[in-house]
Amino acid sequence: KMLCAAAVIAGLLAFFWRDTFNPDSIAGARVLLTGASTGIGEQMAYHYSRFGAEIVLTARRETVLQKVMEKCLQLGAEKVFYIPADMSSPQAPEEVVQFALKKLGGLDHLVLNHIGVTPFQMWDGDVNHTRWLMQVNFHSYVALASAALPILTESKGVLTVVSSLTGKISTPFTTSYSATKFALDGFFSSLRHELTMQKKDVCITFCVLGLIDTEAAMEKTRDKVYMSPSPAAEAALTIIKGAANREREIFYPWWLELICRLRDWFPSHRDVVIQSFYNHTST
Ligand code: NDP
Repeated sequence: KMLCAAAVIAGLLAFFWRDTFNPDSIAGARVLLTGASTGIGEQMAYHYSRFGAEIVLTARRETVLQKVMEKCLQLGAEKVFYIPADMSSPQAPEEVVQFALKKLGGLDHLVLNHIGVTPFQMWDGDVNHTRWLMQVNFHSYVALASAALPILTESKGVLTVVSSLTGKISTPFTTSYSATKFALDGFFSSLRHELTMQKKDVCITFCVLGLIDTEAAMEKTRDKVYMSPSPAAEAALTIIKGAANREREIFYPWWLELICRLRDWFPSHRDVVIQSFYNHTST
């Protein structure tokens, strides 16, 4: 009986976690990817290329984008273009979307992934930094989505928003960053309602990531957190598969979903546990 029960549970788990991803759904897809020069964005560019997508890459540094573009072409991307843009500029989102539209003739995936550089430390009272980070991490996402929405509506496309566990459960040393990620959840979850109510077939895939081994994150969190990072290439692939499957949320690593579901059960115990993962003597 025990064996039977175990087999049924294993079968159910395998059914719910089966890989339903069809790589053909991305072949030839027209993708605009932000924050594409390094980290998870760079890895997403390479995966999209292997699947034969047509891509527009954007970030601030032109020389780095040029190198990523060359590798994308070697990996099999159908077409690759790049446009350097600083998302702290209010004009940048519209310019970038128009560039993508001109080069690709439409858009199937808009992947919002960039973030402004922010310190990983106790709050130091720098309100101007919070305001600036809100522009880069939140307002530019809204403006990019807004400019692309008519095109995505036409193509029944996908809007992917890359967020973080700290956009679902607040953690120390991330005050402004956490605020920008919570804001994204509020805005895009409300927008998802409205798209459904208007019967617009645009999917919003909201991505909740844990600590990932990108250079930027490793540099910032060194000696400050007691957590093992997960690989950026796998995070990138999980995001792409989730968006291609039109999932409303993806969690990477997978167990973050359980943590998010339990978030409000025992708040004070939860906070004690969270704080135990952070070393505040080094800040
Ligand atoms: P990186 O710092 O490696 O990459 C950030 C990207 O954004 C780069 O391409 C950078 O390129 C670009 N960028 C920085 N500033 C600007 C700007 N002002 N305007 C336009 N582009 C800019 O980040 P990660 O790969 O680590 O993170 C990617 C996403 O994953 C983010 O949304 C992050 O919040 C999320 N995430 C990451 C985690 C991690 O542990 N790494 C954990 C949880 C979530 P350039 O400098 O050339 O402009």
